[in-house]
Amino acid sequence: MKNRQGSCLCGARRYEIAGDLDGVWMCHCSLCRKATGSVGNAILIVPKDRFRWLSGEDHGETFALRPTYTITRCKTCGTPLPAEEDGKNVYITAGTLDDPLGAGIRTHLFCASRADWDHDTPDVRHFDERST
Ligand SMILES: [Zn+2]
Ligand SMILES: [Zn+2]
Repeated sequence: MKNRQGSCLCGARRYEIAGDLDGVWMCHCSLCRKATGSVGNAILIVPKDRFRWLSGEDHGETFALRPTYTITRCKTCGTPLPAEEDGKNVYITAGTLDDPLGAGIRTHLFCASRADWDHDTPDVRHFDERST
């Protein structure tokens, strides 16, 4: 069992997760694409009793995007953290982790809603850092 920490871009909001998680949930739905402006949302589902704020718990602003879909952003830097929470779990944006997770993507959700560009082209290029 290991504790892992994460934070928003400016560092105002910091959290800790107790114990191991078995992987990332990758949601490709249109709401997650809009909310992140990207391919979707990479989420860690953490039981509430294994999640705690280290700082900045009150430094978030929650946006109700739909009655069943909210996202909370840091008031200073806008990092979405957490994505959502409910009575049992906190849904943490996986990109905010500062420590290695030790696991990979376990589940892809809403695959039928994937953007048509959400795949590699045959001639895809990879750079270890920026290309220029
Ligand atoms: Zn921040
Ligand atoms: Zn989604």
